[in-house]
Amino acid sequence: MNFRAPRGTHDILPKESGQWQFVEQKFSELCRRFSYQEIRTPVFEQTELFARGVGDGTDIVQKEMYNFEDKAGRAMTLRPEGTAGVVRSYIEHGLASEPSPIKLFYNITAFRYEKMQKGRYREFRQLGCECFGSKSASADAELITLLWLFFSELRMKDIHLEVNSIGCPLCRPAYKEALTEYLRPHLSKLCEDCRRRFATNPLRVLDCKEESCRKIAQDAPKSLEHLCPECLAHWEGLLSLLDTFAIPYNINPKIVRGLDYYSKTVFEFISENVGTQGTICGGGRYDGLVEELGGPATPGVGFALGVERLLLELEAQGFSFPEPVDPTIFIASFPEQRLLANQLAFSLRKEGLHAEVDICERSFKAQMKHANRIKAKYLLVLGDEEAKQMCGRIKRMADGAEKELSFSELASFLVNFEE
Ligand SMILES: [Zn+2]
Ligand SMILES: [Zn+2]
Repeated sequence: MNFRAPRGTHDILPKESGQWQFVEQKFSELCRRFSYQEIRTPVFEQTELFARGVGDGTDIVQKEMYNFEDKAGRAMTLRPEGTAGVVRSYIEHGLASEPSPIKLFYNITAFRYEKMQKGRYREFRQLGCECFGSKSASADAELITLLWLFFSELRMKDIHLEVNSIGCPLCRPAYKEALTEYLRPHLSKLCEDCRRRFATNPLRVLDCKEESCRKIAQDAPKSLEHLCPECLAHWEGLLSLLDTFAIPYNINPKIVRGLDYYSKTVFEFISENVGTQGTICGGGRYDGLVEELGGPATPGVGFALGVERLLLELEAQGFSFPEPVDPTIFIASFPEQRLLANQLAFSLRKEGLHAEVDICERSFKAQMKHANRIKAKYLLVLGDEEAKQMCGRIKRMADGAEKELSFSELASFLVNFEE
């Protein structure tokens, strides 16, 4: 029987895992600079949480969730995104009663039953941030600067920020009505998905990728023209902060984000390059979500970033990831000295060194070949004489230079070398 990874999933092999670690470490290091602390929540939650938190009318909830019933008959779902679980945890553990703001970041695997495309998987990884307790545009702008720094420090080219405001529960109904009136005469020309969205969430028609829908969306009324005074002040506040930070942006009235719970600010970072599908990262403000999920009224803002797409993009741009570090020393031995070789390697590892030794009972000749293949920087050969004297000659592989050392000096010599 031949087993294969399930469709829509992918293995991260050793030759790629270093890139993942690099990006994840970069992200968490940046989060530390902004006082964002990591939160880890379960991979599955009650189905109801996502129905309420992501929104019944969304494609995610309607078509893309991995639902299952557990042995006790409870309806469960593999998380399709990160925010709902974080908000559930924020409420459950009373974080709302701690001093504001609460700044959290996550590094998760999420699951959506989606059409397969390049850089899109059914099991995928996201990095994200959520900030609770500030209704100020400074919180929105801070998250955008975090992302902007992240992308600049990865030296990403051709990536730009698109921003929009979709208003709040006060001003959005009037906008929705204006949009609905505009779309109604074009209804027959919209794609099937958009005809469904027209009734449930007409804003989604604006970011539909179908050509016919895009044409119609071109002249649609803009949410920015329907903002109430509070939303307008927030929007202008955000733009002036971005101007102050000299972060370039485009105002894009078609950015609406797919999720029901967004309010005011919405944004995306979009890549111009071929090979990946545009949006690398999306986020926005969700002031009503904590309350919607049973917590106290709490403003919130956040983003999520798709790691698969980010890596595709970095690869396309020829980013050079740090190479894996080669072993500092390989200890080769004849069969009689095998025990001593293993013991010596263990003692070096205890000292924090990267030491390798044969564990496959290779011949001496095969061990030398192996030492070359793994690119060990130093080689030590253990024979009768070395075992008797407890000292030996270590050879620097790069230039063949040799040095006589007692085994007790070996660790301190190599430690200096590793630094
Ligand atoms: Zn408003
Ligand atoms: Zn459409």
